[in-house]
Amino acid sequence: MEFAVPEDLAKLKARVREFVDRELAPRDDEIETTGQIPAEALRAMAGLGLFGTNTPRAWGGLGLSMLGNCLVIEELARAHIAYFYTSSMNVHIASKGIEYDGSDAQRRRWLPELASGRLVGAYALTEADAGSDAAGIRTAAVRDGAHYVLNGRKRYITNAPIADLFTVFAVTDAARDSRTGVSAFLVERGTPGLTVGRTHRMCGGRGALHAEVIFEDCRVSAENVIGQVGRGFATAMKCLDAGRVNWAAYSVGAAAHLLELAAGHVTARRQFGRPLADNQGIQWTLADMAADLHAARLVCYEAAWRYDHDEARRAQVAALAKLVCAEMVFRTADRTVQLFGGAGYTKDLPVERIWRDVRIIRILEGTSEIMRHIVARHLLRERESVWTPGASESSRLVPWI
Ligand SMILES: Cc1cc2nc3c(=O)[nH]c(=O)nc-3n(C[C@H](O)[C@H](O)[C@H](O)COP(=O)(O)OP(=O)(O)OC[C@H]3O[C@@H](n4cnc5c(N)ncnc54)[C@H](O)[C@@H]3O)c2cc1C
Repeated sequence: MEFAVPEDLAKLKARVREFVDRELAPRDDEIETTGQIPAEALRAMAGLGLFGTNTPRAWGGLGLSMLGNCLVIEELARAHIAYFYTSSMNVHIASKGIEYDGSDAQRRRWLPELASGRLVGAYALTEADAGSDAAGIRTAAVRDGAHYVLNGRKRYITNAPIADLFTVFAVTDAARDSRTGVSAFLVERGTPGLTVGRTHRMCGGRGALHAEVIFEDCRVSAENVIGQVGRGFATAMKCLDAGRVNWAAYSVGAAAHLLELAAGHVTARRQFGRPLADNQGIQWTLADMAADLHAARLVCYEAAWRYDHDEARRAQVAALAKLVCAEMVFRTADRTVQLFGGAGYTKDLPVERIWRDVRIIRILEGTSEIMRHIVARHLLRERESVWTPGASESSRLVPWI
């Protein structure tokens, strides 16, 4: 077993760190104050290929392996989370549907635009009555000649106010369950009948935009269906597998950054006539943070490697990695605030912001509870000869796709 990061990826990681520290992180306060990401920072990210790290070269991306992609994200996590929110949709959930299940024409048309950052993507699954229970979506797409007519309302859709292209999931056959009754559609901004509704005000992630997306008799060509009609839920889940590994990597990067800040603070800050770091209680906290981070990083790297080498287990390892890493980074953020004391709670330092920002990782793209369901279902599936899922509701929780 090889634990060293391959040399080419280690060099790439170092280059991205230098870029993030020079070009992005110095603008963090500006994002927090203005609620906007500086356009030149986004352009610089696009110039470096950060909107298409995991998109194959053939479709205009950097063609990095999932591990390479995760190493880049780790570095990106040193700067404000808004940068990742904006670019990551193009890297994972708003492009993977096209990459995995789209037609060649769709791939040719859209992937180079998304990978270059010329266009911004969004992924629209969640609805008011269908969050964790994503299989319960009600947005409907009814066939009408060479078109589908979409009606329904999505919410919390990241990038919606700035998105050029939406991957939208809608019910095409209400008589069937999600496995064969949901389809995925590409809907361009400006399509009559598509409106972006109110922007949600969130606890953290300032500068990133999340809004409602409303479909009222929105006519979309049947050529805009991604993959097979009726198989869109499987596409939605594949996108989320990629997204979950990406958020695991983000968590690792943010936690590493927090640990650096915490170690710096406890060595500089003196109380009772000596540095805080002289106290064994403080050292043990740091040691616990380091152990937590190290374990999570190994889980994340293994998930990234397995993502590329073991397609059958993608869903399982992605859920496990997101669960472990999301929980870890929030613990780390909370411990960091504690180690900083009052200073950690003020807006003079980035610690409170990061604490608010990383809280969402336990919720979006599947909550930690839903990650546990997925892990447990895969675990118990191996025992189904002796254990049968009791309620029909349990198979709806994590539909077999
Ligand atoms: C900032 C942000 C960005 C987002 N971006 C997008 C996006 O781009 N596209 C998109 O489609 N969606 C997006 N979402 C939606 C996100 O994926 C959902 O919020 C998430 O899946 C949880 O759904 P919910 O909010 O409806 O919570 P609910 O499903 O109502 O869950 C509430 C609580 O109950 C728990 N729970 C639910 N069911 C069970 C169960 N069976 N067993 C145990 N516990 C359970 C949950 O874990 C959670 O703790 C975003 C959300 C936010 C806040």
